[in-house]
Amino acid sequence: MVAMNTQKQNLLIRLSSDFVDISFKESDIFKWSYKEKTIYFNPLEKYTVFSISLLHELAHATLNHDEYHLDIELLKIEREAWQKTKELCEKYNITFNENFAENNLDTYRNWLHLRSLCPDCKVNGMQLSNLNYRCLACFREWTNNDSRFKRLHKRIKK
Ligand SMILES: [Zn+2]
Ligand SMILES: [Zn+2]
Repeated sequence: MVAMNTQKQNLLIRLSSDFVDISFKESDIFKWSYKEKTIYFNPLEKYTVFSISLLHELAHATLNHDEYHLDIELLKIEREAWQKTKELCEKYNITFNENFAENNLDTYRNWLHLRSLCPDCKVNGMQLSNLNYRCLACFREWTNNDSRFKRLHKRIKK
């Protein structure tokens, strides 16, 4: 366990008692796992980032977001989650940072864009099913890894 300041500890204690069905686990990222019903958090972030990021993942959790969506749905899900984060911030007396939310959405948009580029000709591909894409120019098909927290990998199908 990384030593956390009382402010962070108090927030975690409060959230764990308000959401008894959700587990909170230390990690190097912030992430909601639908399968594990667990919110992963990075205890090293400074409180302003820590608190809003934690509540953002809690927003995904309370909205019951799972891991399987098409890219076009993901952006909508992120928007919903940030909206909910705002409500949760009010409830828990945490300053909601509009810029932080917008920057996150921009990063997300950019990530989705990169995912959709053909590894060969860099033309925008079409998403076929969950993580499979096809280039509209050269018809190359490829698969992306599933997590936006992992480095983006493109695996080219034979
Ligand atoms: Zn999110
Ligand atoms: Zn191509």
